[in-house]
Amino acid sequence: MDVTNFVENRPVETGRTFAMTSPVDGSALGQVHEADERTVDQAVRAARAAMEGPWGRSTVAERAAFLRKVASRIEERFDDLVRAECADTGKPVRLARTLDVARAVANFRSFADTVAAHGMESFITELPDGRRALNYAVGKPLGVVAVIVPWNLPLLLLTWKVAPALACGNAVVVKPSEETPSSATLLAEIMAEVGVPDGVYNVVHGFGPGSAGEFLTTHPGIDGVTFTGESATGSAIMRAVAPRVRPVSFELGGKNAAVVFADADLEQAVDGLARSVFTNTGQVCLCTERIYVERPVFDEVVTGLGKRAAALRPGRPEDPRTTLGPLISTAHQQKVLAYYRLAEQEGAQTVVGGNVPSLEADLTGGAWIEPTLWTGLTNSHRTVREEIFGPAAAVIPFDDEEEAVRLANDTEYGLAAAVWTTDLERAHRVAQRMRVGLSWVNTWFLRELRAPFGGVGLSGIGREGGEHSLHFYRQATNVCIQL
Ligand code: NAD
Repeated sequence: MDVTNFVENRPVETGRTFAMTSPVDGSALGQVHEADERTVDQAVRAARAAMEGPWGRSTVAERAAFLRKVASRIEERFDDLVRAECADTGKPVRLARTLDVARAVANFRSFADTVAAHGMESFITELPDGRRALNYAVGKPLGVVAVIVPWNLPLLLLTWKVAPALACGNAVVVKPSEETPSSATLLAEIMAEVGVPDGVYNVVHGFGPGSAGEFLTTHPGIDGVTFTGESATGSAIMRAVAPRVRPVSFELGGKNAAVVFADADLEQAVDGLARSVFTNTGQVCLCTERIYVERPVFDEVVTGLGKRAAALRPGRPEDPRTTLGPLISTAHQQKVLAYYRLAEQEGAQTVVGGNVPSLEADLTGGAWIEPTLWTGLTNSHRTVREEIFGPAAAVIPFDDEEEAVRLANDTEYGLAAAVWTTDLERAHRVAQRMRVGLSWVNTWFLRELRAPFGGVGLSGIGREGGEHSLHFYRQATNVCIQL
């Protein structure tokens, strides 16, 4: 199967392709047409032309209705999208159905509601000299928005940005990850099927440096970049847009902590922790990689987590018994494995995992990895400081609340945290003291799409979600009329 670029609702082939490989067994999935500089330029120009046409004058009600049509069409093509997502990532079908594609539908509906309900501020100004004025803000689209997304939740993260960008009246040029090009391309078909005007949604494929990612972020025709991915890539994109001072919205890496107090409901906590370490094979930016446990319950938590890790079942995505997929690629497998070796060199005791699993012969070409837990590490070790982005966590004891907060906040990252306790006051106190964009209490990955989402420190710039997204994807212009 060939995956093409999409410009003005038409597939665009280029002279150069790269191969897609299944992370499940290493088999060839097809070829992707890599966008050259000319194709990226075509896409940006098409987006600009769309902004200057009827789309640029469309009403909020028209765009909200359009987003709802996209959501309904995604539901009709649900199985196609699940298939594409599972082929590209190897994730279990059950996960793609309940998380990735379900959230794509929810993203379009939620931003249709948000944009339809959102007003802008106005003020009656009364000056000392008796003059009066009406000031009101008008929300204008940013313009041509570059949307650059990673491979871990390809459609979910793409639509989390495309939905609000289109709701606000922008045109987008999307650059999906080179590892997972399929669902963004299927979304182009869906957009065309529900009648998106030419140039409003364009897709360019390729890599970062020296390829579509760089061509897009350095293109003078873009008005802003919304990006999800690694912190180092965010930094490269900032440099790329700096000469033309374009706004950026960045959702970047994490090294998220969970804090478990001895008074927690341990059964619930261990279930939640296991989910937070192993979901999507640990490849969710919100996954927990550091678990701080109050000393009296340390052994119980380690044992419980170890059992849950051992019970995970790797397998083919379509097998209903599969609860653990592979990593995204053998290159990423090597990176994660290098951290497994580093942890041992740093003196970790491996409670469970630590290796590549031995699986049936037909899966040996895949990017499989064992879910892994370590004890015996501290915050001074690289394994506990650097983002691994795999199904692995260090479990570390603490003795009191102050120490727990200090250890959890001792990181350059600041995306998410989870606090497990039945003490109501402590729950609020500690959750609020976490230096992150999102703190959970007695749960994990429970998302409210209207709430602010983003990170501090190396984890990002800006907030998206609900009206926070509207603040990025449109610019408020003040109009002042003397009365
Ligand atoms: P990545 O940064 O390697 O790639 C992300 C995207 O950027 C890809 O499309 C890639 O081709 C493109 N890219 C790479 N270099 C570029 C450049 N110089 N210019 C323009 N584009 C470039 O990230 P990844 O490995 O695909 O994804 C994993 C990372 O994403 C992890 O760090 C994870 O924590 C992070 N992430 C963060 C969130 C969040 O919401 N904060 C969500 C998911 C993933």
